[in-house]
Amino acid sequence: MKGYTVQGDRILVTGGAGYIGSHTCKALAYAGYEPVVYDDLSNGHAEAVLWGPLVKGDVRDVDRLASTMSAHSISGVIHFAGLIEVGGSMRRPDLYWDHNVNGVAAVLSAMRQADVSRLIFSSTAAVYGTPAQPGLLSETDALGPINPYGDSKLAGERMIAASCNAFGLEAVALRYFNASGADPEGQIGEAHNPETHLIPLAIEAALSGQSLTVFGSDFPTPDGFCMRDYIHVADLARAHVLALGLDRIDGGFEAMNLGRGVGASVVEVIEAVGNACGRPPLHTIGPRRAGDPPMLVADPSRARARLEWRPEFDDLQTIIDTAVAWRRDRRFGVTSALPNAA
Ligand code: UDP
Repeated sequence: MKGYTVQGDRILVTGGAGYIGSHTCKALAYAGYEPVVYDDLSNGHAEAVLWGPLVKGDVRDVDRLASTMSAHSISGVIHFAGLIEVGGSMRRPDLYWDHNVNGVAAVLSAMRQADVSRLIFSSTAAVYGTPAQPGLLSETDALGPINPYGDSKLAGERMIAASCNAFGLEAVALRYFNASGADPEGQIGEAHNPETHLIPLAIEAALSGQSLTVFGSDFPTPDGFCMRDYIHVADLARAHVLALGLDRIDGGFEAMNLGRGVGASVVEVIEAVGNACGRPPLHTIGPRRAGDPPMLVADPSRARARLEWRPEFDDLQTIIDTAVAWRRDRRFGVTSALPNAA
């Protein structure tokens, strides 16, 4: 097995045509790596693959993954490809278990076939479920997802940890809080179709004059609205590069939270979007969305210590300003984010 990765190495990025994946490819290229994107383009965009080749393939296809790793002399893998919506996972849990769990199994199997030993896994704060008490979530807190998205990601983490133990692989699971914002140079950004995430939907509402639905106002939080820890996508991307370059991974598997350690409520996000767009998004209060915990805010101290990582975008307004700049400029042909838009 090869050791840890170094500059000049080729890194396979599954899901590299997607939102966080494409920003990570840019960060990899700037750090001297060569990203090779493996994506079926079901949710990603070919226009976002700007820093290396694109191989079209299904993440559950072990043979295609293994042959891509061998053909490109891959020395590390960053695994993003998967399904990502809490709400979607409540409606179609079968798809989430299939893509997210079988995808991890295929990536691990292909890595063993191609003799690749280091894996960075795209995980999520949804593995914590509803925290027992308010406060910052640390990696040692109880794990207990409350939706199939979180369940499937936790299953992926556990499969990876067991494979590290059994087969000598090394992996870091990065548990993202709420990825947000866009490349500050405007080359890439968030463009899901259909869009379900708060910030792009609120921007669309502000720019189009249509209304956004706020999911619940009776949560046990200071203002009654759901609270999340919004972290800039370029900061997330940089953490992947740092994890890839770690000299050693304790016990072969480590999990780390990636957040700012600061919570913002849905209404605070709506206000910041209004500031950035020059007019507030119209919104109505609707019922809670199934599977939404009231508050998810990271204790990011482990990533700070292990990766020497600090978010460079450290306030919500700046993060949202980059998202608005991207939306005004281009969105890879996605014309409207709002599900009820004409
Ligand atoms: N949200 C909302 N209206 C929407 C979309 C999201 O009120 O149209 C809320 C959602 O309930 C959550 C927060 O915004 O509290 C962030 O949701 P998002 O889907 O962006 O990310 P998640 O936290 O589910 O990963």
